Amino acid sequence: MMRIGIDLGGTKIEGIALAADGRAVAGRRIATPRDDYDGTVRAIAGLVAAIEAEAASPGTVGVGMPGAISPATGLVKNANSTWLIGKPLQQDLDRAIGRTVRLANDANCFTLSEACDGAAAGSDVVFGVIVGTGTGGGIAIRQQVITGPNAVAGEWGHNPLPWPEPGELPGEPCYCGRRGCIETFLSGPGLARDHERATGARLGSEAIAGLAAGGDAQAEATLRRYEGRMARALAGIINVLDPDVIVLGGGLSKLARLYEHVPAQWAAWVFSDRVDTRLVPPRHGDASGVRGAARLWPQQDPI
Ligand SMILES: [Zn+2]
Repeated sequence: MMRIGIDLGGTKIEGIALAADGRAVAGRRIATPRDDYDGTVRAIAGLVAAIEAEAASPGTVGVGMPGAISPATGLVKNANSTWLIGKPLQQDLDRAIGRTVRLANDANCFTLSEACDGAAAGSDVVFGVIVGTGTGGGIAIRQQVITGPNAVAGEWGHNPLPWPEPGELPGEPCYCGRRGCIETFLSGPGLARDHERATGARLGSEAIAGLAAGGDAQAEATLRRYEGRMARALAGIINVLDPDVIVLGGGLSKLARLYEHVPAQWAAWVFSDRVDTRLVPPRHGDASGVRGAARLWPQQDPI
């Protein structure tokens, strides 16, 4: 049986079909009907139909989404694509697609993909992080995603930044209603705002990284602050979960220096005489969202 994965993002919806051997046999992407819930459901159903037509085979369907389905109410919560919040997405997708669909948080899908056949393949305990527009996180243990009774396992982004320095308090307001969340420091927009506060220059995270690579002292200082904060925030994760591997995804995961500079600093905050956790870039990059969504269903024996 083919496994179809859908990655529902704020700007695009991507679909893929994985064959039994893990190869992608069909795939396409469309724009997300923003602020249009019914249109989003229809778009996903249409994408599944188009992929099945392309692959000439039916499949199981897994969907990675922002936020999560509340185990208590069955409704979407915690989604930064706010038009989904409070909607019975599971029920509506099951009906529109004509079968039971598995839904999971997009960072959980990313983590599952990297834990199964990605950068953390073969590791028991994996923490996956998406640092981009936000700072999602997910936990996979022996290639199984951990969700939890509140469906917030791995959501480190809305914890406070640990061991804050004076200039970091009380922190910026976060869309979750609190202040000083890790996400307000470590997301791409958070990095850009920090640079603007320090220099007055409004630049995106890629431009800042480019300047730093060219020797700009202010951009370098911004990245140093960013790396120190990521080291503290991930040390907090290591102290609780003690993962074998932490995989970074999202736009900021392309910043190669993180894999050297962050582990060099996190030892100062981890409650251990040595730290053997590895920090690695993703193997599947942006494709891990769809690949992990497809893997929400186990591979079934060929009929
Ligand atoms: Zn928050």
